[in-house]
Amino acid sequence: MSQIQGQDTTAPAATGVSPPTVIVIGAGIIGLTCAIKLQAALAEHPDLRGTEVMVVAREWPDSVAGAASTHSVDYASMWAGAHVRPIPAVSDQLRREAGWLKQTVAEFDRQADAEPWCGITRTTGVEFLDEPDEYYGIRGMSGLQQESGLRGWRTLPPSELPSGVQMGLEYETFCINAPMYCEHLLRKANSVDELVGGQDGDQTAQ
Ligand SMILES: Cc1cc2nc3c(=O)[nH]c(=O)nc-3n(C[C@H](O)[C@H](O)[C@H](O)COP(=O)(O)OP(=O)(O)OC[C@H]3O[C@@H](n4cnc5c(N)ncnc54)[C@H](O)[C@@H]3O)c2cc1C
Repeated sequence: MSQIQGQDTTAPAATGVSPPTVIVIGAGIIGLTCAIKLQAALAEHPDLRGTEVMVVAREWPDSVAGAASTHSVDYASMWAGAHVRPIPAVSDQLRREAGWLKQTVAEFDRQADAEPWCGITRTTGVEFLDEPDEYYGIRGMSGLQQESGLRGWRTLPPSELPSGVQMGLEYETFCINAPMYCEHLLRKANSVDELVGGQDGDQTAQ
């Protein structure tokens, strides 16, 4: 099996001990992102040299040779037409998620510039709110920018609002072609030269 790209899989010299393997289950956006991040983190630790990252999944992006060309409804990343829409961080859980969002925005920003073929496109987000949460007023546009990492926030003037709408917002955000992005992540992470299992069984890329 091949190693994930860039990972040094040299076994510790003359110890007779096999290098450890970290197994990531799932080849959707989450699993593939975890595999890439793990691989990068492991590469920074000399003590962990040789540790391999293995992705185990039932279904794979189309870019894997031998993968089914159709996907089940259980494989969300192959069906999603995802965009980034921040939700005001009004609870502890949402504040935690806002922190993740900010990291995601920074990563998408980098990828949209450095890897424009990856399936991430910059786009304008427009929201019309019938009953806006008071939080929008409390935080204001600069607060939302600070919280989300997204730029270009402005409230739309009443002349730009459809009738019955109380508040309109605009900001710069991202649209993700999720199947294309997964193919990109997999290409980036791995030179897959072996798949284990069939369409109905688990497949493994290491
Ligand atoms: C129509 C649609 C629109 C969406 N819009 C947005 C949006 O605008 N913004 C947004 O942020 N999110 C959106 N989502 C949600 C987002 O797409 C999902 O949260 C995300 O794709 C989930 O990724 P995942 O890696 O967790 O799971 P999945 O993509 O479902 O991947 C799961 C992986 O695990 C494998 N697996 C599962 N069970 C097993 C098992 N027992 N053994 C081995 N492997 C297994 C599968 O084969 C697959 O490889 C949308 C989703 C849909 C369907």
